[in-house]
Order: sequence, then structure tokens, then C-alpha cells
Amino acid sequence: MNARRGEVRVFVAVGANLGDRERAFDFALARFAASAGVRVVRRSTWIETEPVGGPVGQPRFLNGVVELGTTLDVRAFFALLQAIEFQAGRDRSRSVRHGPRELDLDLLLFGDLEIDEPDLTVPHPRMGEREFVLGPLAELEPDLARSRRRLSSRVDAR
Ligand code: AMP
Repeated sequence: MNARRGEVRVFVAVGANLGDRERAFDFALARFAASAGVRVVRRSTWIETEPVGGPVGQPRFLNGVVELGTTLDVRAFFALLQAIEFQAGRDRSRSVRHGPRELDLDLLLFGDLEIDEPDLTVPHPRMGEREFVLGPLAELEPDLARSRRRLSSRVDAR
């Protein structure tokens, strides 16, 4: 366990397939590090993946997972993710579902919290089906990735 006292342990998936993808990830990490109440613990290797869904012929993605510790509540943390996406050049009002993006930040896990609201579901509902999330998560926390994969196949079996 890497969480410090009073902190919630958080996993965020990062993805990008437009512009300088590594630079966008560095930007996100720097913004996390500069945010009060947020600590970057570690990150996975960044991996290149084929786009899943979305428009045909869009560029390949760079994906990874970042572990953080935070004293923010889930809403404040989610607002921070959206602000960082926006600052990295992503305009959600224009974005196509599963389409190209400069930076995508998905909140995978926020401690043990479960939340199901119109704009925010945690744990992220599709993380267990996405190899581009499970692979990098497994590099950091193999047991966690295994249990999410199992949970997802149980849902599929219904
Ligand atoms: P996307 O364009 O794939 O990044 O999806 C973003 C949309 O998913 C936003 O409208 C969010 O409000 C919503 N959303 C729901 N749950 C989550 C989550 N756990 N992490 C990130 N976005 C989420």
C-alpha cells in the first residue's frame, strides 16, 4: 500500500491520440504534482494501442495508468481531471464519442468508493473490458487488475 494517512488511493487512466501524446501525459503529471491535496505515487509504462470504437482510421493511442494519493473528495478530484483535460486542449463540447483526443483522463478507482451518478461512475464501468487499461494497471497492481477482469467477465456472463 502506498497511501499515506488521510489520503485516498486513486488510479487514473490516461490516453491520447492527437498531438504530442507524451507531452500531454507529462503535462497531466505536472498538473497533478502542482495541485494541492494531490500526490503522484507512480505511473505505469506508456503503451501504444489500436483505437477501440470511434471513427475509422483515427491515430493510435498512447495509454497508461497513474496512481495518486489525494485528500480531495471525489467531486473535487473529478473536477481537477476535467480541468486538466481542458487545459491540454480538449474541448468536450466538440468531442466525438471514442473519437480522437489530446488527453483523456478516466477515473478508474477512488479508494473503495462506489458512485453511480449521471456524469460520474466509479469504479469506471468499462475498465474491466479494456485491455489498454488493465495492462498498465496490472503492471502497477496485478491483483487489482485480475479482480477487475474477473468482475467484468461475471457481468458479461449475465
Ligand atoms: P470520455 O469522452 O470517454 O472521456 O467520457 C467522458 C464522459 O464520461 C464525461 O461526460 C464524464 O462525465 C463521464 N464519466 C462517467 N464516469 C466517469 C469516470 N469514472 N471517469 C471519467 N469520466 C467519466
